[in-house]
Amino acid sequence: MNLLVLGPQGAGKGTQAKRISSEYGIPHVSTGDMFRAAIAADTELGREVEPILAAGELVPDELTVALIGERLAEADAVDGFVLDGFPRNLAQAEALDAMLGDIGRRLDAILFFDLPDGVATERMLRRAAEESRPDDTPEVIARRLEIYHQETEPIVEHYRVTGKLVPLHAGRSIAEVWAELSESLQGVA
Ligand code: AMP
Repeated sequence: MNLLVLGPQGAGKGTQAKRISSEYGIPHVSTGDMFRAAIAADTELGREVEPILAAGELVPDELTVALIGERLAEADAVDGFVLDGFPRNLAQAEALDAMLGDIGRRLDAILFFDLPDGVATERMLRRAAEESRPDDTPEVIARRLEIYHQETEPIVEHYRVTGKLVPLHAGRSIAEVWAELSESLQGVA
């Protein structure tokens, strides 16, 4: 099952993607986690992306698309994956379509976590206090939401026309979102 979670930061995508990963035995592929791991390991990639993440800006498509291409080619992704944080703009969405097309695969469902900005901001500020992520300061949170609306939201329409978009009410509890999500996955590949 090839899945994608889409929505603003703070919508609970990561939490639900981790649960999908364990229930369905497919890897949770998060570009944000991959970049943070590279930063923690002080690799060349990590040093390159660190200031970009700290500012809440997007890492260049070239780097991100290459990273995802390599990751999806790994053995554990042959039976599926749940992508989280990628694609972030139309160019990345098109690159993903091409990449999957080349290997005869396609997305089975795009889970769209719909959440008002006020709730997203509130949740990110709370997470900032709990996890001390350097990109969860009020200024960077505002910038990341701005980029979400400008760059990422347009891809909702890109996927809506495929008929595979599954809209979810992400403002509710983790258990309620999971109930709706897992029910909607029943009918998927
Ligand atoms: P996330 O954990 O998904 O919120 O990602 C944290 C940060 O990593 C983002 O604010 C971006 O700087 C960077 N990032 C993650 N995924 C992407 C992507 N698909 N394209 C560009 N930058 C990304």
